[in-house]
Amino acid sequence: MGVGTNTTYFVSSHYEIVESYTGTQVNKYYGVYPEPSRRAGSQRIAMRTNGTLNFLLGDHLGSTSLTTDATGTVVSELRYKAWGETRYASGTTSTKYQYTGQYSYAADFGLHFYNARWYDSSLSRFAQADSIIPAGIQGLDRYAYTNNAPINYVDPSGHTSVCVGPNADPECFRPDPWQSSSSTNYMFTWLPVDAENIQWIQPYGNSVEAWNIASYNGHNYCGYAQCLHAGIDLGAAAGTPVYAGVYGTWWGSCSKDCSYPPGWVTILTIDGYIVRYGHIKPVGAIKGPITPDTIIGYIADQGGNSHVHVEVSKNGKYYNPTVLMSPKVRGQYLNHVVENDFHEIPEYPSLWDSPLDQPIIDSHGNPVWSILGICKDKGKGDVTIEGVKYEDRHLGVDC
Ligand SMILES: [Zn+2]
Repeated sequence: MGVGTNTTYFVSSHYEIVESYTGTQVNKYYGVYPEPSRRAGSQRIAMRTNGTLNFLLGDHLGSTSLTTDATGTVVSELRYKAWGETRYASGTTSTKYQYTGQYSYAADFGLHFYNARWYDSSLSRFAQADSIIPAGIQGLDRYAYTNNAPINYVDPSGHTSVCVGPNADPECFRPDPWQSSSSTNYMFTWLPVDAENIQWIQPYGNSVEAWNIASYNGHNYCGYAQCLHAGIDLGAAAGTPVYAGVYGTWWGSCSKDCSYPPGWVTILTIDGYIVRYGHIKPVGAIKGPITPDTIIGYIADQGGNSHVHVEVSKNGKYYNPTVLMSPKVRGQYLNHVVENDFHEIPEYPSLWDSPLDQPIIDSHGNPVWSILGICKDKGKGDVTIEGVKYEDRHLGVDC
């Protein structure tokens, strides 16, 4: 051990012995443990160094930001950039448990210790690939840190991104709603069109517009689905910015002879969904992570009908975007739902009472799930709707 060198022996993550030429220092940490469902690692709230007590005050990620003495006087301050680089430092912070509460060797060799791996805050990436290959962005880029969303996630183990919202805000919590009846999915954490720019909407499901179009186009899923529209339309003036709304990566775009003229953009979300924005002018390919506030295009001029079509699919199935919105975004969206837009056909007593109740459908319009569970398909047959006979149509579902 050379002069000026510290050797740290870890007895546990809450107890360490630091040896240096000035003597041996013993640090003991005192922590609190959040409830398991929101666990972001235990947060250290105080430490005792050779008998002297300091309080450690953190941010929502569990980072050490302020250190005070036992009387509450600030003795040091550390602030961080989004990806963990030091933004501001004053005084000497007595603990090395710093950004997101992980042990920092940034001053020594530039890395942070995340148990399974080392993290490089100057590159915003892990220094080693994950030995476990998870779904989403972490599986596509095994060096990625916290789904490229460091404001909303921490990774205490080095293997698993854990959601932590400001003030316990569950905005970034998104278990798959179709796996568990008690969970809710929060994929859209940003409205694709600013609320003040929305002029009208057409909901996912049995909208008047879908009914009108499907009737004369003879879409074969008019019967059971009351003419389902497999997306939502947000009407706004031409030139209005369209935001990604989700965390993900650029997946594709079209700007010539497109199926959603004049163009569309698709994003692969960190949950493995494909989000498509149609009837827009794409900004072009976006390299690197896409965050909810990334502008991916602008609403194209469609005469008096300018809008963006928002569609979510996964494995060939279309999902109701409404149930994938965070409570805040859903509230902004549902504010614009007009009662009359929600079309009900007398021959088909309402299967769904609100835009939230609409099912997942496959690419032929067949029901797959409802939010209540698996739907039982009634098969096909002839149906008469509002005096018009349709042959060989889906007869509906019991959900
Ligand atoms: Zn549409």
